[in-house]
Amino acid sequence: MKYEPVIGLEIHIQLKTKSKMFCACDNTGEDKEPNTTICPICTGQPGTLPVINNQAIDWAILIGMVLNGKIAKFSKFDRKNYFYPDLPKGYQISQYDLPIVSGGYLEINNRKIKLERIHLEEDAAKLIHKKNSTLIDFNRAGTPLLEIVTKPEIKTPQEAKLFLQELRLIMRYQGVSCADMEKGHLRCDANISLRPIGGKKLYPKIEIKNLNSFKAVERALEYEIKRQAKLWEENKAPKEQETRGWDDAKGVTIEQRTKEEASDYRYFPEPDLPPLKIGEERINKIKRMKRETPQAKRKRFAEEYEFNSEESKALTDDRDLSYYAEQVISELRTWLLTLGLEGTEEEIWKENKRKLVKLVANWIINRLNKIVDESDSLIKEIKITPARFAKFISLIYQNKITSNLAQRILEKMFKTGSDPEHIIEEDDLTQMSDEKSLQETLKKIIKSNPKVVEDYKKGKANALQFLVGQAMKETKGKMDARQIVNLLKEIL
Ligand SMILES: [Zn+2]
Repeated sequence: MKYEPVIGLEIHIQLKTKSKMFCACDNTGEDKEPNTTICPICTGQPGTLPVINNQAIDWAILIGMVLNGKIAKFSKFDRKNYFYPDLPKGYQISQYDLPIVSGGYLEINNRKIKLERIHLEEDAAKLIHKKNSTLIDFNRAGTPLLEIVTKPEIKTPQEAKLFLQELRLIMRYQGVSCADMEKGHLRCDANISLRPIGGKKLYPKIEIKNLNSFKAVERALEYEIKRQAKLWEENKAPKEQETRGWDDAKGVTIEQRTKEEASDYRYFPEPDLPPLKIGEERINKIKRMKRETPQAKRKRFAEEYEFNSEESKALTDDRDLSYYAEQVISELRTWLLTLGLEGTEEEIWKENKRKLVKLVANWIINRLNKIVDESDSLIKEIKITPARFAKFISLIYQNKITSNLAQRILEKMFKTGSDPEHIIEEDDLTQMSDEKSLQETLKKIIKSNPKVVEDYKKGKANALQFLVGQAMKETKGKMDARQIVNLLKEIL
């Protein structure tokens, strides 16, 4: 490859404020009947006046802070004029030369991707294309949209995808958007041009639209790199300012139109809205609203609990999961103090932390998460309280239950939310829950069957089967066969 890609992203994120950007309409219209969350303002009736939603302004500033941008002291709204059926006023209220946030960056794999700007605008209506007609649902018209524009600094399709995923996480952590790409809460256009490696000259950039999944972003950029490289190889240049659409089914980009210049939009200041003056007091108030970022949490998880990078990532990729894990750990810390161990609280925690926290990570990431996923539920809705999950971990930690039994108990806890100790009692698993007692039983069986053991060591597979059978009989079928096999092998 003689060329390197230069990629920039333009991202639109719907803010989940209670009401719309410039009117009091309910902002959850996507779940409602079409054209039911509308009013004269968001449908652009003559004589109406917009009113700024302060929550949206606060959230834009908040995200600007999290993304290390410069918050404007003075900002304003502008009209962006274009004609399209989804735009009831014939213009969109947006921000042109004085965006609410300028600059900033987001760090991806130790590389700072710089931002151009962040501004606020209103979303358009949704067009529903039928066979011979197009219907318009105005519920979405007027939803606050945050537009984030990166500098053309992204180097690979993979990096573009990671950038978007991290951005989604940031929105979710700050609680300003569900940022679900499939639902259109987070939408992305990508600019891409190639340049000869080491060269400085900027080549014509192509804009790709209709990217509605992370995978689509990655695939479309990969496709475009190949397409443009081929053009350059054939001494043909890509068209200036071309817009292409992504066809996910065919896996290709398709020429759409030549992009408008900013002058085509005839931007001018919105005369119906006062300019925004953002004072120190407001900035300080918003600073206090700022929640821990996913980056900070990953770092803290690694430092405080010594999670490795995969564990930290798996636990923090879902904000609710990270809360849950921390609550469980905190419960376990309290539990340790009830055991009457020697030392100060800090010493006791230090002594047991590593192993306990490792168990929490394993059982949440590999087991609980799987059960939650398979049942199509969410971690914040599950019946197992962090306290009960902590108790469950403490039983494993004390070797009171084996890993096999623990899995069965966890599944039951997930269904009923019951206390793990109750489940053990109810199911009469008490006696056999003790791995030690099973071990004793197995050792006894091994001792009284020396011939069979010898056969096993010579490689006779059914010798083991015989021992398992004996053990099942001895334990009256209360034990899991797999567990017996594992333990037997271990002892042998
Ligand atoms: Zn409205």
